Order: sequence, then C-alpha cells, then structure tokens
Amino acid sequence: MLKVAEEFVSIQGEGYLTGVPMYFIRLAGCSVACPIKKYCDTDYSFKYEVTAKELYGRALVWFDEVSCDSYALDWVCITGGEPLDQDISELVALLRAFGKKVMIQTSGMRDISFDVDWLVVSPKSDRWQDLKIQKGHELKLVYRNQTPHLMAEMYHWTKFHSYFLQPYEKKTNYNTQETVDMVLHMCNKLGQSWRLTTQLHKSLGVR
Ligand code: SF4
Repeated sequence: MLKVAEEFVSIQGEGYLTGVPMYFIRLAGCSVACPIKKYCDTDYSFKYEVTAKELYGRALVWFDEVSCDSYALDWVCITGGEPLDQDISELVALLRAFGKKVMIQTSGMRDISFDVDWLVVSPKSDRWQDLKIQKGHELKLVYRNQTPHLMAEMYHWTKFHSYFLQPYEKKTNYNTQETVDMVLHMCNKLGQSWRLTTQLHKSLGVR
C-alpha cells in the first residue's frame, strides 16, 4: 500500500522542466533529517492509502479527462515528502509501461533501484558524501549560505545533467539576490554551470 497526500494536475514550477504540464502524485511522509523541516511548507501529511495499481488506475482517469487527440499529458511527477521512503517501483513500472514519462523528486538520501525518465535530487545535506543518489538528471540545491567550496565539491563529485540553485524561503522572505550572486560566482569564478531556478508555481499562485 502507498500512503498518499494528494494528486493533482499542474505545471512543473521548478528546474529544467519548468512549465511542463504534469500529473503530480505527492506521497505522504518524510523521514529525512532535513535542516529546513521547520520551514517546510509542503503538506505531505497522510490522507489516504491505496495500492500501486489503484493509484495507477486513478492516474488513468485523470489522463482521460485532460488529454485529447492534439494534447497529451506525458509526464507524471512523483514527489513528497520523501517519495523513496515507500516502494514505488511497481507504480513507476506501470506508468512507464503505459507510455508516461516519470519524474521523481527526492532528497537523494535514499537508494533508488529502478529507472525513471527524470531524476531530480534536492540534497538536504551540504556534503555530497551523504547522498545515496549521486547521479541523475538534475540536482537542485536550496541556497542556505552554503560555501562556494561545498557547492564546488557537490558539483565536482556528483554527476547530473543540470545543476540548479534555488532561493530559500524563510517565513515568506526569499534570499533571491544572494542566490543570484552565488550562481554568478560559481559560473564566473569557478567555471561551474550552476543555474537559477525559482518556484514559478508559487509566484503564479497556482498549485
Ligand atoms: S526533505 Fe523535503 S519534504 Fe522533507 S522536510 Fe525537507 S523540504 Fe520538506
């Protein structure tokens, strides 16, 4: 059984696939020792429990509702909480066998034993050595004044297609300028291709 917080359709608001319409499955629970847990505004509280097949079936109903001949909702984003706290391998396999592309957003603090189409790691440790997942498509770091040295090590020792830095929201204040400055510093001074990402869905006031 999978513990779920919510399912909805929206656009991806962060990172490389910003703007892409997706079906979101937010799994309940987060066991990660996360330094920003106190300020985490994601509601990953447990709402209901379903099997992987049932969750897949619910997704199919959504696909039928929002897709027509000229438009297809290709992507499913499985997020949390920490989605890899639960065994989602069957759900991912069902969705991919149906032809959907699956994105996982994880802290990287749990192992993953199956393939996905887009793997996003948002580290909750500043040390790359603490990550169980050290390669994938996208690494997205929330900027909490990590030193350039720690960021450079994260970039150097991990293997991701893209590296993003995201402003940290603390009680509705964002450190956007500091984040931009750090992106420029990492690019200009250290020759590392970090990029800025914001949370577009929040600024647009959508889910
Ligand atoms: S790991 Fe993610 S979901 Fe869990 S507390 Fe930290 S920010 Fe929130």
